[in-house]
Amino acid sequence: MYDVIVIGGGSSGLMACVSAAKTGAKVLLLEKNASLGQKLLLTGGGRCNITNNRPAEEIVAHIPGNGRFLYSAFSQFDNYDIIKFFKENGVTLKEEDHGRMFPTTDKARTILDTFISLIKQHGIHVQTKNTVSNLLFDENKVCGVHLEDGTTIHAKSVIIATGGKSIPKTGSTGDGFKWAEQAGHTIVPLFPTEVPLTSSEHFIQQKTLQGLSLRNISLSVLNQKQKPIISHQMDMIFTHFGISGPAVLRCSSFVYKEQKKQKKNDIHMHLDCLPDISIGQLEQDFMKHQKEQSKKEIKTILKQYIPERLALFYLNQANLIPETPLQTLSHQDIKHICHLLKHFTFTVNGSLPLEKSFVTGGGVNTKEINPKTMMSKLKEGLYFCGEVLDIYGYTGGYNITSAFVTGYLSGFHAGQQK
Ligand SMILES: Cc1cc2nc3c(=O)[nH]c(=O)nc-3n(C[C@H](O)[C@H](O)[C@H](O)COP(=O)(O)OP(=O)(O)OC[C@H]3O[C@@H](n4cnc5c(N)ncnc54)[C@H](O)[C@@H]3O)c2cc1C
Repeated sequence: MYDVIVIGGGSSGLMACVSAAKTGAKVLLLEKNASLGQKLLLTGGGRCNITNNRPAEEIVAHIPGNGRFLYSAFSQFDNYDIIKFFKENGVTLKEEDHGRMFPTTDKARTILDTFISLIKQHGIHVQTKNTVSNLLFDENKVCGVHLEDGTTIHAKSVIIATGGKSIPKTGSTGDGFKWAEQAGHTIVPLFPTEVPLTSSEHFIQQKTLQGLSLRNISLSVLNQKQKPIISHQMDMIFTHFGISGPAVLRCSSFVYKEQKKQKKNDIHMHLDCLPDISIGQLEQDFMKHQKEQSKKEIKTILKQYIPERLALFYLNQANLIPETPLQTLSHQDIKHICHLLKHFTFTVNGSLPLEKSFVTGGGVNTKEINPKTMMSKLKEGLYFCGEVLDIYGYTGGYNITSAFVTGYLSGFHAGQQK
């Protein structure tokens, strides 16, 4: 008989089993893969962006999917505690742009090895190649798990740390959602987030801009009234199916939400290539160019602002010949070009599938989880942590932060139930 069974040896489950064991509980970690932390090893391009070194309000603002649910968790264990946790366990960390924290080794393996040595140190039992098939209940209380091989293991508490459904080859196949439903929980419909977007626009289908990267642009998702609901000033890239890159990933959950709201697939987005200049200022600049460099071709001037391929594309959109000298452009032409530079509007019609997304949106409804302990409000002794919960953040260390924080809390409180 164990005090705590943790199902899933990913980011949240690894933290959960260590924090449960620290309370003195007898802990078993069950993982279906042959080895622990397969997704963890892929994170941050193999370097593992473990957390973010910014205040709680900023962390929450970067978790558009129920970030506020984490406030009470943060009062017990927050991103600074994650940093402290790794430092105390001998991992040196470094901060990169936007507060992103990485191990100085630049290897996710360092993070996984730290957990593996803590597991040994605390005498946590680990069974890999063991797939949980179901949970066991005694009336309203969880009392153990069934394995696929027919074995039954009893425990006072069970922590579900099975992750979402993104990149299923890492083991995240969404098993926990089924058990949560069986326990009476609501599953907020799953959707891909932090994911490239697809578009049926002619210029995308024709691959006109494929491979073109844009730096420091502002990308917005528009509502039915064509007003931006979210804008992100970062980089992006045009691909053979649509758009990708940091600004696009951050907009992706908003596109999904807007599709549901508008009950249609096609959603307008708007690209501002020069977010640090107002349209008025830009028009004045162009008039000045027209006066002072009247013989210059419009494409030469545009190239000072945006990459040549995009300049040629915009000129085509404006029905202007790239070699047109500035002096022959009408005021209307200039206004049109400036409008394209600041407000190029296009449609997206979806995203790559859940399996290819970085993060799974939706999941176990956080309203049914005690935010101070991560215990189910429906079944005693049943805990949830990590991506199985309806919590999703931007890339930048926010998802692992959520996994570690909810993992820590669930382990600590489950451990204390012994
Ligand atoms: C390519 C990539 C890069 C990423 N980079 C970052 C990053 O740098 N920073 C960041 O914050 N976030 C990053 N993320 C997101 C982050 O990895 C996840 O949010 C996080 O790993 C979720 O942790 P988890 O413990 O909930 O789930 P997972 O890490 O998915 O772990 C779930 C575990 O449960 C096991 N399991 C599932 N079902 C069963 C079962 N029936 N029986 C036994 N075991 C089972 C699985 O095998 C798996 O090991 C990245 C995601 C991807 C795909």
